Amino acid sequence: MLGERIQQARKAAGLSLRALAEQANISAMAISKYERNESVPSSKVLIALSKALGVRTEYFFRQVVVELENVEHREHEKLPEKEETKVFADVKEQLERWIELEEFIPNPWSMPFDLPEELPTRINSYDDIEQIADTIRSAWHLGSNPIPVLIDTLEVKGIKVFITQYDGHKHFNGLSATVNGNPVIVVGKHWPGDRQRFTLAHELGHLILHDRLNDKLDEELACHRFAGAFLVPQEKVKANLGGKRTWLEPRELMILKQEYGLSMGGWLYRARDLGILSKQHFGKLWGYFNKQGWKEKEPEPQFPQETTRMFEQLVYHALAEDFLGESKAAELLGMSVSTLHAYRKMESPKNVANQ
Ligand SMILES: [Zn+2]
Repeated sequence: MLGERIQQARKAAGLSLRALAEQANISAMAISKYERNESVPSSKVLIALSKALGVRTEYFFRQVVVELENVEHREHEKLPEKEETKVFADVKEQLERWIELEEFIPNPWSMPFDLPEELPTRINSYDDIEQIADTIRSAWHLGSNPIPVLIDTLEVKGIKVFITQYDGHKHFNGLSATVNGNPVIVVGKHWPGDRQRFTLAHELGHLILHDRLNDKLDEELACHRFAGAFLVPQEKVKANLGGKRTWLEPRELMILKQEYGLSMGGWLYRARDLGILSKQHFGKLWGYFNKQGWKEKEPEPQFPQETTRMFEQLVYHALAEDFLGESKAAELLGMSVSTLHAYRKMESPKNVANQ
């Protein structure tokens, strides 16, 4: 058990045996033995390992172990296995803390992730997805206005959202999975906020569309369509762009992006999918975007990133009601007890000593 935990932390940190050996000043051979449970590290060694791996020693003894099931991510950006292991290890570590926290909270922290019954069981065309997105928005009481914080919206609906700290591979956008039947969405930390929001909505698309698509439909394309339609419902696209257009001004798209948190490119696709731009006019605009390098990176200013807040909020909630003690709270938050003390007194973070 201890051995698996050490290995998981090492993989999450993206370190080879040798790299960890150097950082912790322990031989690679010894670490390898610990990982295979062939010998047991002393507490001094555990402290050295925890420092090198950026975890608290309690991590090595945590009992909750989770597995990700039904993992979905974009085929063309499938990570090399070694890289994928790092993402999974990071997500599992965050998930374990979540599940551990849930054990201390007497009431459920969100509603269960239930989908409205009126959703069709079979989807036969990409255009049908507009209606699906509208149905979800209506069931979730979101109206048709911009969604201010998408992560928050998803968390309240019972989806655990994680921003992976993993930074080894810039192409990692996100993935969806389930853990014990509960939905999980992971998003990469490197992207501007509009891109992260698109990924979050795309992954929500997987959770909703997966078993409903007609064989002729491509799930990735379907999830893209869902993401656009969920972020900006068709009625709002038409209200903002008009019925028929031949060109869209970049500045116009920038303003809409700032309002809705959908990228300028995303707006172009919305206009094409809803027949506002003909294929030909879309092609011209997309070609222009490509020439400007905006397919890779859209012009400044970038849309601000979102953060997760539910987990941290619940730790303080549990602390306030004595559902858990300070040392457990500090462990869950990944900080020292003295740092937690300072935070509880609302001291400015720059005065708070790092652990
Ligand atoms: Zn996908």
